[in-house]
Amino acid sequence: MNEYGLKAKNASVANLGLKHVSAAYWNLTPAELTEDTIIKGEGVLTDMGALAVDTGEFTGRAPKDRFIVADSKTENSVWWGDINIKISPENFERLYGKVTAYLSGREVYVRDSYACADADYRMNIRVVTELPWQNLFANNLFLRPTKEEILNFTPEWHIISVPGFYADPEKDGTRQGNFVIINFTRKMIIIGGTGYTGEIKKGIFSVLNYILPHEKNVLSMHCSANIGKDGDTAIFFGLSGTGKTTLSADPHRNLIGDDEHGWSEDHVFNFEGGCYAKCIDLTEEKEPQIFNAIKFGALLENIEFYPDTTTVDYSNTSKTENTRVGYPIHHIANAVEPSFGNPPKNIFFLTADAFGVLPPISKLTVGQAMYHFISGYTAKVAGTEVGITDPVTTFSACFGAAFLPLHPTKYAELLGEKLKKNPNINVWLVDTGWSGGAFRVGERIKLKYTRAMITAALQGELNNVEYATHQVFGLAMPKTCPHVQEEILNPRNTWSDKDAYDAKAHKLATSFIQNFGKYASEASDEILAAAPKVAVSA
Ligand code: ATP
Ligand code: MN
Repeated sequence: MNEYGLKAKNASVANLGLKHVSAAYWNLTPAELTEDTIIKGEGVLTDMGALAVDTGEFTGRAPKDRFIVADSKTENSVWWGDINIKISPENFERLYGKVTAYLSGREVYVRDSYACADADYRMNIRVVTELPWQNLFANNLFLRPTKEEILNFTPEWHIISVPGFYADPEKDGTRQGNFVIINFTRKMIIIGGTGYTGEIKKGIFSVLNYILPHEKNVLSMHCSANIGKDGDTAIFFGLSGTGKTTLSADPHRNLIGDDEHGWSEDHVFNFEGGCYAKCIDLTEEKEPQIFNAIKFGALLENIEFYPDTTTVDYSNTSKTENTRVGYPIHHIANAVEPSFGNPPKNIFFLTADAFGVLPPISKLTVGQAMYHFISGYTAKVAGTEVGITDPVTTFSACFGAAFLPLHPTKYAELLGEKLKKNPNINVWLVDTGWSGGAFRVGERIKLKYTRAMITAALQGELNNVEYATHQVFGLAMPKTCPHVQEEILNPRNTWSDKDAYDAKAHKLATSFIQNFGKYASEASDEILAAAPKVAVSA
């Protein structure tokens, strides 16, 4: 067989059943992968030197097509349902056989990498991809072993990703042609029918969200993290689009990571070795660190150029609103490597409330922190369809239910224990959504104000100011904050129609209470007392 490149002596794709591939390229450099992509007509170099590709039909994850193999290991531990969908070991084996058959006669790219920057939790991963740019993604997003480590590499988990292969739903037990299947017993993820790279990183995230809390008593978190000069760590939880990547890139603090972390007894550590940033409306002025990270080695997805140029037009969303760039963490000048730090001093829950109801920053009690963590609220702004103007509430437990194989209370309990044990940790709710009215009436709060509020919280400037209590949500809202106009700190002040605000606040509170119903029986009185109050005021 033809296997080229850097690898351990006995390593071969034949061990994976891939005896008949035409060639296996091992651990190619970013330059080689970029070159191969261009030669294969799969991508273009931008004028900044980044590689731009199209991921194909899928420009986002497909959560309805993500399965976990149900067997003796997972049957009684995984929280089965719409998020963690069962598939049988037999279906997995059949599909795995079909994937290896599909790859015979084709070239594959192999990458040795690992997850978890804390050596105590390091997990070696071997990634096999059909396309060279998928391999570049794995290089950028996972942690990169040294040459020496590659020569002695023993993989624990495997990912095989083949966008060109489609399942036969009737025979293979999938919903449609594309699929992501996690097999905890075989320690393998197989991905077919989609080229969206986010499936690769979120596949491993889901694996760690099982292993770390379940087997190692470490809290795994969908959050970004950065650290101040004095070693004070801040973590930022939030659903997609709420600002984890944007707000963790702060020139005055060092980046630990932008999306996935573990919190052990002694550390907050990054699972990944890179960032995956949204590109929509990106400008150098508003987000200089991310803008400047998009250089040679970075992988842009589904962007468009200005006509007749190779200059990226970040405002163009004709392929998708979810345009993305993946880059290794050292593209951010002040990243910490290895990426870990102290346990957090400040925790931010980010939400993008498109109803314009929640305050831009508020300080949470432990009970409120647990309530909001379990709720995991944000709002999705509806598409551009005619007539649809109302945003939609989204509740995703622990700000990442889509990636949690265990019941949400498992993660909530771990967080609760940590908050109880460390009463000095501040927990803040930061609303990066709409101010001055709901979506289409008000506008999204300016990034510079959100940054100013976070900076104030981090510097202790909100410790000795006066607070007001939100009437419905019971949240403590600072009355003043450096560099921010006082009026916007209480959202009710920003609405010209106060009755409309009150009505919206009650409506949102009702949604919170309805959603929380499914967890209420397991929640303590302290948590239940943190629920919003919807009693009709006289
Ligand atoms: P994902 O989990 O999908 O990676 P994320 O939480 O990392 O999502 P970001 O990539 O940071 O989300 O996206 C936030 C988007 O919202 C960016 O495009 C950013 O420019 C924009 N934005 C606008 N106003 C604000 C604000 N006040 N705070 C944060 N982000 C803002
Ligand atoms: Mn992000």
